[in-house]
Amino acid sequence: MGTELGVYKTCVSARSTSKEILKKAQDGGIVTQLFAYALDEGIIDGAIVAGPGPEPWRPMPMVALTSEELMASRGTRYNLSPNVALIKEVTRSYGLDKVGIVGTPCQMQAVRKGQLYPAGLRDVPDKIALAIGIFCMENFPYQSIKQLVEDHAGMALPAVKKMEIGKGKFWVYGERGQVVTLPLKVTHKYEQPGCHVCLDYVANLADVSTGSVGSPDGWSTVFVRSKKGDDIWSKAMAAGCFETKPIEQVKPGLELVSKLANEKISKNQKTVESRATFGVNKALRNPYVSPK
Ligand code: SF4
Repeated sequence: MGTELGVYKTCVSARSTSKEILKKAQDGGIVTQLFAYALDEGIIDGAIVAGPGPEPWRPMPMVALTSEELMASRGTRYNLSPNVALIKEVTRSYGLDKVGIVGTPCQMQAVRKGQLYPAGLRDVPDKIALAIGIFCMENFPYQSIKQLVEDHAGMALPAVKKMEIGKGKFWVYGERGQVVTLPLKVTHKYEQPGCHVCLDYVANLADVSTGSVGSPDGWSTVFVRSKKGDDIWSKAMAAGCFETKPIEQVKPGLELVSKLANEKISKNQKTVESRATFGVNKALRNPYVSPK
């Protein structure tokens, strides 16, 4: 396994030991549990999370200051939640000094870029205390999710309990126990086009990154990456927040994570390269190289 999984110190399969958190968690409740622990211990004084939005299944970035507020943000919503939009405000009107933020790999890139090149982000770079990244293959605009669930799966959005992309399918679980699956070939045209140039699957730049792939249902795969991430993870483990298993002992394990990461990167790398010859004698911009 190579660079596709990024730099990390340890990788385990884990889940929260809190039944309350697990009740509505997407997988092992890692993000909610780690932020709740960090809040209780004063490691962070608030976290930017994807809270409930004005419409069903539309996330809205929010600043969680308590464990109760964190609970409201459990579960994956497969559409855009611009969490980084709050990164400056959180150090202003919210007055936070130790900021937690969760996001997709691209949002972790934005956080790190903001720390190294803080254009318009005075005070922000030193205040990021814990950045948790979520594995992400692709994302969807809200309208896409609405159409996939309502038109293709034939379910009303408010009647949906959980959505999941896994095992090659898009799963929609109804409140009354119904389960509808869509093949991923149906979902492809609804993807956000910007995701097709994305070369990061497992949030390489986060302090800790997590996702479902690689671990059994109800568990998460966790990469502990930075020194900061390692310190917080070790303390949370010592406090009994998580149950873990060595990743080598679970199925399908890192092999599948690595396979999917490679598939995403090579597919999207081709899209990036094709932009160089998109027009007749004219290229589309490539954000990974400096403009000439
Ligand atoms: S695929 Fe990449 S660009 Fe799209 S939401 Fe996920 S991390 Fe962001």
